[in-house]
Amino acid sequence: MSSGLPKLDVNGLESFIPEGEISELLKKTTTDIKQVRDIIAKSLDKNRLNPDETAVLLNATNPDIIEEIKEGARTLKKRIYGNRIVLFAPLYIGNDCINNCTYCGFRKSNLDVVRKTLTMNELQKEVTALEDRGHKRLILVYGEHPKYDADFIHDTVRKVYETKSGKGEIRRVNINAAPFDVDGFRRIKEAGIGTFQVFQETYYQKTYEAVHPSGLKANYLWRLFAFDRAMEAGIDDVGMGALMGLYDHKFEALAMLYHTIHLEEKFGVGPHTISFPRIEPAIGTDYANHPPYQVSDADFMKMIAIIRLAVPYTGMILTAREPVALRNEAIGYGISQIDAGSNIGIGAYSQTDEISDDKKSQFVLSDNRSLDQVIGELCDADFLPSFCTGCYRLGRTGEHFMEFAVPGFVKRFCTPNAILTLTEYLLDYATPETKAKGMAAIEREIAAMPDSNPQKSLLLERLKQVHSGKRDLFF
Ligand code: SAM
Ligand code: SF4
Repeated sequence: MSSGLPKLDVNGLESFIPEGEISELLKKTTTDIKQVRDIIAKSLDKNRLNPDETAVLLNATNPDIIEEIKEGARTLKKRIYGNRIVLFAPLYIGNDCINNCTYCGFRKSNLDVVRKTLTMNELQKEVTALEDRGHKRLILVYGEHPKYDADFIHDTVRKVYETKSGKGEIRRVNINAAPFDVDGFRRIKEAGIGTFQVFQETYYQKTYEAVHPSGLKANYLWRLFAFDRAMEAGIDDVGMGALMGLYDHKFEALAMLYHTIHLEEKFGVGPHTISFPRIEPAIGTDYANHPPYQVSDADFMKMIAIIRLAVPYTGMILTAREPVALRNEAIGYGISQIDAGSNIGIGAYSQTDEISDDKKSQFVLSDNRSLDQVIGELCDADFLPSFCTGCYRLGRTGEHFMEFAVPGFVKRFCTPNAILTLTEYLLDYATPETKAKGMAAIEREIAAMPDSNPQKSLLLERLKQVHSGKRDLFF
């Protein structure tokens, strides 16, 4: 059992982020196209890049070189991951917070935000509303507060899995919450979570300390070693991230690579996902309107392509903080998961009270399309929306790594599971228009599968079963 806030113990820990080295690497300029091509080829050969190679890509300013980098990312994405894109929704559980992150609408000193924590009853209503729209994968989001201890998170996760509505159910729950001690992580793992996300926000310690002036989050090392504790507790599925706008985005991209290497060396496994949210405006939060290191769209796209090449085995997430056109372009560079139909007001999916959503939200979203709309548009653009939870349910952890490393993995598992879960959505929840687009996309995918693929006949058999009412079939 655990209760309240964890006791911070950072004795003997030393940062593995070599700030001086990163700054030196980023001082150089890249002019040698052959060098860039060799680095891209190394990535396409299924190797993670080193910091100096990644810095060469980040230091490129020539438009032709940048175009080659983006083309490299597009090739890697197509060659390894195919058309599939996984969909999820965020569910905010509570916005009480003891920290004072200068960029966040939930910070303790913000008097403009209305504080709210879902009751178990309200949580059930939220989950029902999400299931009734067709969602299967959620990420639960919490402020940092003694109320949101490991037991509370455990109980909310269990509640989500227990809540079923008609044919709807949530099959995978990920978490974005403050980092715990080893015991706390263990308790949360018992609830059957997928990924535990903790964003370092900025890896540059001086800035980190300036933007986290008080509360537990003020301790840089406690957060930097969050995944070490999670791994020690048996959670090997972790999501890292940096909040773009606090410090130089190139520094953050390289620092995430050093963090990745640290985890690979110590635990033999890198991050399951990497996120790079840009700061969005937030209620009562002037800092968020003028972040000191705002990243332009062009630099952002270039960085996404470079992260894809640098850590080719990892999932990449881009949320509805970003506008539609930018999200669509970024999927081509290798984004593997997006949220859809998101509402980040607490209690907003089921409208449990009269207070407007923006007064309970952490920040403002840019992409307000419904899940149905997103699915229709993705299918139109030749992507294959997926609600697959197959690997997680079959205990195939490290699935992104397997997709990347095991020949034929995407063809054998990911594409068939995407087809099965998309079909469920189309039959149970889609509007007629989206249903037509989705069915056309599925036909396209099946036609592209060679008849020699032994999985094809099995898939067609299972698809028949889904059409006649069976649910939750996967490979
Ligand atoms: N309270 C926990 C924490 O800070 O780790 C988890 C939840 S916090 C609500 C989730 C993430 O939201 C933070 O890690 C941060 O990167 C991001 N965030 C905070 N303020 C933001 C803003 N104004 N715009 C975009 N993202 C923001
Ligand atoms: Fe609290 Fe997290 Fe927001 Fe910081 S980012 S104020 S810890 S909710």
